[in-house]
Order: sequence, then C-alpha cells, then structure tokens
Amino acid sequence: MSAVERVLIVGGGIAGMALAIGLQRASIAAEIAEIDPDWRVYGAGITITGPTLRAFDRLGLLGRIEAEGFCSEAARICDQNGNVILASRVAGQPLGPRIPNSGGILRPVLHRILSEATRASGARVRLGMTADGLEQNGDRVAVRFSDGSSESFDLVVGADGIHSRIREMAFPDAPKPAFTGQGCWRAVIARPVEIDRPQVYVGGPVKAGVVPVSRDEMYLFVLQHVPDNPRMPEARWPELLEEQLRGFGGVLGAIRDRLDASARINYRPLEKLLVPPPWSQGRVVLIGDAAHATTPHLASGAGLAVEDALVLCELLVSESAIEAALSRFLQRRYERCRMVVENSAKLGELEMQKSAPQQQAELSRASMLTLAESI
Ligand SMILES: Cc1cc2nc3c(=O)[nH]c(=O)nc-3n(C[C@H](O)[C@H](O)[C@H](O)COP(=O)(O)OP(=O)(O)OC[C@H]3O[C@@H](n4cnc5c(N)ncnc54)[C@H](O)[C@@H]3O)c2cc1C
Repeated sequence: MSAVERVLIVGGGIAGMALAIGLQRASIAAEIAEIDPDWRVYGAGITITGPTLRAFDRLGLLGRIEAEGFCSEAARICDQNGNVILASRVAGQPLGPRIPNSGGILRPVLHRILSEATRASGARVRLGMTADGLEQNGDRVAVRFSDGSSESFDLVVGADGIHSRIREMAFPDAPKPAFTGQGCWRAVIARPVEIDRPQVYVGGPVKAGVVPVSRDEMYLFVLQHVPDNPRMPEARWPELLEEQLRGFGGVLGAIRDRLDASARINYRPLEKLLVPPPWSQGRVVLIGDAAHATTPHLASGAGLAVEDALVLCELLVSESAIEAALSRFLQRRYERCRMVVENSAKLGELEMQKSAPQQQAELSRASMLTLAESI
C-alpha cells in the first residue's frame, strides 16, 4: 500500500509535470494547480545533459525528446575563435547504451511534450489557480485555493519554482534567492550544419556557447558579469548582446554580425537558492527550483527537477509511512542537489575572476561525473 492516495502539486513546470506523470502511472491521484491561466513557458532553448536524458528516459519521454529536440555527442570546448581545445565526454559511458551524451530542445517544445504527457496521464490540471492557505490536520492538508474553494489532500508538493509561495508559507525562515553577479543572454538562431553538438567557448571576453535544439535551430547563450545587476531595457537587447560578442571570431562572430530582433533574444539575471534541510514540513514538501535553484553552469536544473519527481514517486510507492518517504527523499536528493547549486555558483565565480579555462573544465568534468552516478 503506498504512503498516499491523493496529492496536490502546486506549479505545473518541469518538476510538477514530471511528478504528476509518475504519480498517475503509480495509480496515485495527482492534481496540478498552475497559476498561469495559459500555462505558457518563456525562454529560448534548454540543454539536456546525459543524466537529464536518463531521467527523461525513466519518465518514458526520451523518444519524443530525441525526435523533437537534438541529441548528440557531448560538448566541444573551444577557444574564442572556435578552435577546439577539448572534446568532452562523460568517461566510460556510465549512462547506458541507449542514453545520448547530450541534447538540447526549445523550452516551448519540451513544455508541450511534458504537458501532453501530463494530460494523457489523467492528472487533473487546474490553470489560473494557486493555493492561498495550507492547514495541516493530522494526516491531511486542507488547502484553500485562490478561487475560494477548499479541498484536502494526503500530501502537498511545492513545485512552484525559485520564488515559491509554498516555500514562503511552509518554510517562512528559508533563505531567499540570491543574485550571483552574472546575467544570462539567450537567443535562437539558425543552425549551421557544422554545429552538430553543443560548443562552449572559454577564455574569451565572456563565456558563451551554442546548443543545437532541432535540425534547423540552435540557441546561443552568453554569461555576462554584471556586479550591479543593471536593468537591461528590452528594446536594446540586440545591441547589448552584440556588444558582449565583440572579440569573438568563428561561429560566434558570424552570429554577432547577423543578430537582430528576430533572434528571440532573452536576458535574465542569475539567482541561486539552496533550502537547508529539511525540505518537508509535515505533509508539505518542496521539489525542483522551489528547494534548490541553480545557475545554468552545469545545465542541470531541469534534470534535478525530473530526478526529484522520479525519486519522490518511487518512495511514495515503496514506503508505507509518509514520514519515512519524505525523510528518505531528502537523504537521496540533498547532497546531489547541493553539489549542483554550489559547483554551478563556483563556476560562475571562476568565470567572473577570469580563472584558467582548465580549472573551470576540471570542475565541470568532476561535477558531471558525479551526476552520471545513479540516483
Ligand atoms: C537562464 C537559465 C538557463 C537555464 N538553462 C538550463 C539548461 O540549459 N538546462 C537545465 O537543465 N536547466 C536549466 N535551467 C534551470 C531550469 O530552467 C530549472 O531548474 C527548471 O525550470 C526548474 O523547474 P521547476 O518545475 O522546479 O520550476 P519552474 O520551471 O520555474 O516551474 C514552476 C511552475 O510553477 C508555476 N508557479 C509559480 N508560482 C506559482 C504559484 N504560486 N502557484 C501555482 N503555480 C505557480 C509557474 O508558472 C511554473 O509553471 C536554467 C535556468 C535559468 C535561469
């Protein structure tokens, strides 16, 4: 007998949808309350590392990601003119023969794949809805919804992202997200055929990279050092991004010379957050960015979100007591998530200090080897 029968998931992002799919598959009734009435997603592309592809495989979605995104060998590390310094690969193929080394996909495409699978799972999805109040009564949580209705659940999961309301309600003393000193530029552009895997450019004026997201497109990212966190007016995004690419030759130089507003440019200051243990309070638990939001330096935030969902599902099924399931969840997840948040932040610091590319490459490689371990 599983630890719960009916679960409310607040937030229909990557973590919330992955959890709903997994719970429904395990015959646990899942309900999503998503605040956005249109259930949209913003941003350009997203990098899907080997360990993240392995997590999507366990969710049954690897085939669709391979078909609608772009899977490839792991990244090439290049100098600022595009000369290859290192072709990286997670050592020893520990992810299994079916799992590609690396991938990329447009965020709206990943969102469509996940939201279709969520609907198909039979999970109830309530859009334009959030939880305004939580009251724990023994073995139930009474939830007051934003439309004035109330219902009770065996478990409430906060999957509502880095600025989580559930975290504010259940963990009022938790730390707040902290700005890290960098901003991230992204743009979607046409993919030249020679870009057949992610390429990361180190040792130039800024860290930059391109990641294929489909047969025809790739996304560009640039990490800028912005100690004062200035406002970047949207009307000036093409010009401001072009400035960051000055000094690059090769593919990045060509992108810079053609950049205009059609490139779906996006800018976002980077924040991080690691909620110290515990991640549950009675029958309320946090997953995904609500518990551990990382900067994108290891491209692993989405992967951690899916892994959280897989592990929580497994424990809710295998443990008969919810307390045991939630405490084992923390034990299985904390160290791995801490490593990603802290090493990603460290990589950002090394970039801002302009440390040797080799030092950055070694920390990335060590972190990716840890992530290749089984969850
Ligand atoms: C610039 C940048 C680049 C990144 N690049 C990568 C990458 O390449 N690879 C990678 O793996 N990760 C990347 N990440 C991290 C990744 O995007 C996140 O880790 C991931 O989206 C977390 O998923 P989540 O479901 O926990 O949160 P979110 O994706 O933030 O989803 C939260 C959901 O909850 C909803 N919500 C919010 N508040 C409420 C509320 N009060 N009530 C109900 N619903 C609510 C939101 O509308 C949303 O649907 C990047 C992050 C940033 C900032």
